[in-house]
Amino acid sequence: MHPFHDELKKRLVRYCAIDSQADMDSRMAPSTECQHDMLDLMVTELTGMGAQDVTKTAYGTVIATIPGTAPGPTLGFLAHVDTAPQFNATGVKPRVIEGYNGGVITYPDDPDLLLSPDDFPYLADKVGDDIVTASGLTLLGADDKAGVAIVMTAARHLLQNPQIKRPTIRVAFTPDEEIGRGVDPKLPVDLGVDFAYTFDGGDLGEVTYETFSADFAVVTVTGVSIHPGWAKGKLVNAIHLASKIIDTLPQVTMTPETTDGTQGFIHAVDMKGSADHMELRFILRDFERDALDAKGALLRQVCDTIAATEPRAQITCTITPQYRNMRYWLENDMTPVTLAREALADLNIPEISAPIRGGTDGSRLTEMGVPCPNLFTGMQNVHGPLEWVSVQDMTKATDLCLRIAERAAQTD
Ligand SMILES: [Zn+2]
Repeated sequence: MHPFHDELKKRLVRYCAIDSQADMDSRMAPSTECQHDMLDLMVTELTGMGAQDVTKTAYGTVIATIPGTAPGPTLGFLAHVDTAPQFNATGVKPRVIEGYNGGVITYPDDPDLLLSPDDFPYLADKVGDDIVTASGLTLLGADDKAGVAIVMTAARHLLQNPQIKRPTIRVAFTPDEEIGRGVDPKLPVDLGVDFAYTFDGGDLGEVTYETFSADFAVVTVTGVSIHPGWAKGKLVNAIHLASKIIDTLPQVTMTPETTDGTQGFIHAVDMKGSADHMELRFILRDFERDALDAKGALLRQVCDTIAATEPRAQITCTITPQYRNMRYWLENDMTPVTLAREALADLNIPEISAPIRGGTDGSRLTEMGVPCPNLFTGMQNVHGPLEWVSVQDMTKATDLCLRIAERAAQTD
């Protein structure tokens, strides 16, 4: 048994049972009160294990120092404490299936739910592992409690073993990653590291340094509101115009459901309003800046074209940047990626470096001057009831974290 196996399993089960779901509609920071339960627990546990400078910032990120015992770049290790808003996350009952036998996994609280290795080939590779799942009614929250458990276990180990040569390390636990608000503008300065890693990836061996670039667009359509009884020739219905915009945008190409690999998309995520006024929301995604700009230009062109058909209506299109592909910064200095790769090689773990069709806290951090690739935790089927993680994968992620710390000390 790996020396961290039981600790990781216990930490994961303990953290997953705590409701810390983020809420997109909240204006608070953190978005939900319950996230403080996790954040305060991090403060207590970090203090208890002897970490220094344990701080909970006003924006709800917990940061602490693991003192260095060798020169080298200051490293950051991050994970997020919130869980996804897409599925029930209240009353999570984590369950450990010890020594998975390779069969179909059933759920105590939902007899219809099945997790089959035929549907999820990654599971078929995990025969003999300890698999952690939820009970059927909730997500598990391994995204990103697995990452939290990995960083906490590595921190505990380093603090207890000062003879392990490593530079100064800062660990951080952020709220609200799942709703894109995990990185406060003050975080890069408060973190104070040369570079960092998030533990928020999936399959064993994943080192991600290429993510989407992302924009958010809001289109408003204002019609002319008149009592329908005497509306002839006067009323301009915003619903019809909004429908035309949707209808004119690509539907059998350039949507999430028709693209994969390195292709980008325009995704209509919300449309609401009335005959009088409509608001449409889109997310725009691409790996390349030019291609992302082209998607914005296409959306504007569609809006302008529909606006030209009805001069009495007002149509606006506002596009705001969300995050940018971290590769733009990392390719100028691949040190953090190279270090992770070398550490993986030391551990004989084959590397997977596919671009991810999404973003991480690291995307924003990288853009703000803290290069921050994303590393695997083992989490699978996240944001739903079939979420699971292998404890054995988590032990390897913890080894990776420690190996990076040791290698960083050697390089200076
Ligand atoms: Zn995550």
